Amino acid sequence: MGDEATNGFAVVRPPGHHADSDSANGFCIFNNAAQAAEAAFNFGADRILIVDLDVHHGQGTQRIFYDDKRVLYFSIHRFENAKFWPHLAESNFDHIGEGAGVGYTANVPLNETGCGDADYLAILWNVLMPLATQFDPHFVIVSAGFDSCQHDPVGGMSLSSDGYSHLIYQLKSLAQGKMLMILEGGYNHEVSAQTAQRCLRVLLGSSPFSLSLSQKAKESTIASCLSTISVLRNFWPCFDFYKIKSTPRTSQWDIYNPRCFTSIPLEEERKNTENIDQEKLEKVQLKEATHKPAQTLIYYDAENYLHADSSECDHPERPARTESIIAKLRSSQILEKCVEKQNERLATAAELELAHERPLIERVRRTKNMSYEELRQEESRLDSIFLTNDTFDVAARAAGASLQARIIFFELIGR
Ligand SMILES: [Zn+2]
Repeated sequence: MGDEATNGFAVVRPPGHHADSDSANGFCIFNNAAQAAEAAFNFGADRILIVDLDVHHGQGTQRIFYDDKRVLYFSIHRFENAKFWPHLAESNFDHIGEGAGVGYTANVPLNETGCGDADYLAILWNVLMPLATQFDPHFVIVSAGFDSCQHDPVGGMSLSSDGYSHLIYQLKSLAQGKMLMILEGGYNHEVSAQTAQRCLRVLLGSSPFSLSLSQKAKESTIASCLSTISVLRNFWPCFDFYKIKSTPRTSQWDIYNPRCFTSIPLEEERKNTENIDQEKLEKVQLKEATHKPAQTLIYYDAENYLHADSSECDHPERPARTESIIAKLRSSQILEKCVEKQNERLATAAELELAHERPLIERVRRTKNMSYEELRQEESRLDSIFLTNDTFDVAARAAGASLQARIIFFELIGR
């Protein structure tokens, strides 16, 4: 990924995360995420975070980097105590890497179906982000399986498209936003498309839509989070916050022993590969979301210097405060990426009265016509205030900026 882009989304198939270094497996031929990680190594990345959000455990990716601490592999997947494909003990929370890579594999197994936004966000906030932030990756790869989303005919989970985009939004805070999403599974075409669109909005700089988290995370999800933390906390100080024992089997939560199937139950194998009639799948109606490029407005009053301390000393609250900020934004070429707005709008008396008593407003307004001596006298009656004949206008423009911003905000979102 060059300088011109910080993130990307590879809408590719076949998927890759089940493919091991020496075997194709579970619809996957080559491990696309592992390929991307190897490419990133070649570009000089030493620490790569792979977050696997597919509903199935990416055992191929896990195996490829199991003893490699350059890669932190983090997977959230349906497990049901190994009843769900790929039925492997190694998909459980207690498999955390080996050799030099011990502590660099993190699995949060979901032991119930129906896990939704509350479950995934609980994992994000309590396990993934603390760990990932401490790992401090140079590059983030997301194995973006959409079969963890609601109404997927295979996954059985309830993650919403907007919930998914919240995960991506948070992960973007890592590695200075350098992120590659790679499509893995996802078998409800419409839901996958909607989720991809929501994630792309976030990659392009928009914030995710708000969620209504009406449900709590499931007890089994919380137990899994604590189980994962309990086996990783010896390696990662970010988990010292939790007062849990480092031996999970003795903790107060019900922790399951993994069961490993040696052969895939025939019934499930058939279900995993049977025809899916897209017309018969449930759909969701999402709020319309046309993409407008994210914009940042900068308000600046070029005449704010007219409100300044008239005495000789350099008062701490002086025009240089805003001038130095604008100069820095300009010299670092950030200002040109923003929409610069001259702040010319004075808050009206009626608007000021929404937050202030009228006598205060009038008192400040009278300073517009005061003589030098009168201003000094008025200053002496106030606490830590200096005054000029322009103070009222500059202050009313400062108050007006937020009002101006609000109007533009509502215009932007079309309300
Ligand atoms: Zn999958």
